[in-house]
Amino acid sequence: MGDGTTVELDVEVAVVGAGLAGLAAATVAARAGASVVVYDVRCAGGRARSDERDGFIFNQGPHALYRAGAGVGVLDRLGVRFEGSLPHPVAAGYREATGELGVLPSSPASLLRSPLVGIGDKVRLGRLLGRLPKLEAAPLARLSAAEWIETLGLTSNGAAVLSALTRVATYTSDLRFVSADAAVGQLQLAIEGNVLYLDGGWQTLVDGLVAAASAAGVRLFEGERVTAVQAGKQGTWDVSTPTVTVRAGSVVIAAGGPAAARAMLSGAPDWGLGAAATATCLDLGLSSLPATRVAYGLDEPLYFSTHSPNARLAHSGGAVVHVMRYGARTSEEDRAELWTLARRCGVGDDEVVTERFLHQMTVCHALPRPGAGLAGRPATDATGSFGVFLAGDWVGPVGLLADGALASGEAAGRAAAKRAMSVRAPIGAMVER
Ligand SMILES: Cc1cc2nc3c(=O)[nH]c(=O)nc-3n(C[C@H](O)[C@H](O)[C@H](O)COP(=O)(O)OP(=O)(O)OC[C@H]3O[C@@H](n4cnc5c(N)ncnc54)[C@H](O)[C@@H]3O)c2cc1C
Repeated sequence: MGDGTTVELDVEVAVVGAGLAGLAAATVAARAGASVVVYDVRCAGGRARSDERDGFIFNQGPHALYRAGAGVGVLDRLGVRFEGSLPHPVAAGYREATGELGVLPSSPASLLRSPLVGIGDKVRLGRLLGRLPKLEAAPLARLSAAEWIETLGLTSNGAAVLSALTRVATYTSDLRFVSADAAVGQLQLAIEGNVLYLDGGWQTLVDGLVAAASAAGVRLFEGERVTAVQAGKQGTWDVSTPTVTVRAGSVVIAAGGPAAARAMLSGAPDWGLGAAATATCLDLGLSSLPATRVAYGLDEPLYFSTHSPNARLAHSGGAVVHVMRYGARTSEEDRAELWTLARRCGVGDDEVVTERFLHQMTVCHALPRPGAGLAGRPATDATGSFGVFLAGDWVGPVGLLADGALASGEAAGRAAAKRAMSVRAPIGAMVER
């Protein structure tokens, strides 16, 4: 405060976290006319960062962008450009118990050819594929994805196939813990537009978002941990790092998950959150393509997919393969299981140029809960603190994973800018009187 009658803001909007959500929020707020700072304890990008190893580009585990998802719309509005390719069209179904790999029915053509399901399931799955695009997802929020699959009258084989596809679409190891509206919404996105593996990895999105933020005038501070967000004078917020405290008109907390948000904010309400989705990943850079390009586990929550050369992530002739278990267990168990799957799909030890093992990654901090659904996730303003907003893959009624992070980031950035302007205006008017 200067003379006691006017609020001197250091900045209009302070954003905590420079992942997809924070960068989107910051850019939207700055474009709305606010002065904006972003702090990240590490560097920009969060879980969307990619790393280069021996000429191979690794995302942090398999990352695929839904072409018809909300995130693409946000990226487009922010002017972030990217290119990529569809996954290999034929996927195998993998039974860990027997080591068997068979064509997985994921399209009308592969449904007919698949040896994994009998004629009755082919008919039922075929009908479902036909009616899924028009199915109204929201009323299914009361059910879990597992309960919804039970209502479809499939045999155990048919249910295993649909569960495998639903796991891939939702990143959920146990379908009892994700609401059916979210699962159906993801399957609809997969049918409508499939996904893209991105050339250059998801770092392309991070770099594009950082460039958009910078062009809008956002100031980004990396290596700065925000330790507290506390109420300041006259409706302002003091945002503290170990080295500085800035006074902001409003704040967006986009620090990854709810625990990080709660740690820096006192008096946050009970958000009634769903379970987190975790995964263990084995990222492989290979000198040649594996015999099986894509495989999804039928009896275990497993994933194997060749992301490059579909996307440009490796030198010519090389391949980037991501192997993953949805729902992490012990590091030893997961590592052994992922290598077994890789070898089963034709990865030979001699072909491995580089590898990275990532145990227990948090893919999504809180899945939409059965009974509450997407609409039951915390709103961007559900902080109990007027002028402080949330963004991330556990926030807001729109989209899972990156789609949720970008959509809530956009909404929070817009709301934060509006609120910050309103803090200034009445105080300015008061001074004039
Ligand atoms: C293995 C894996 C696979 C995935 N696959 C997909 C996929 O295929 N499709 C998809 O859409 N999504 C996928 N995701 C999810 C996607 O990566 C995330 O939803 C998205 O990146 C989350 O962005 P965010 O900004 O909300 O959070 P984060 O990326 O976690 O960013 C939070 C940022 O806040 C910073 N931070 C934390 N605390 C503080 C603090 N106190 N002060 C300052 N900064 C702080 C962190 O350093 C971080 O940079 C996957 C995730 C994983 C882990």
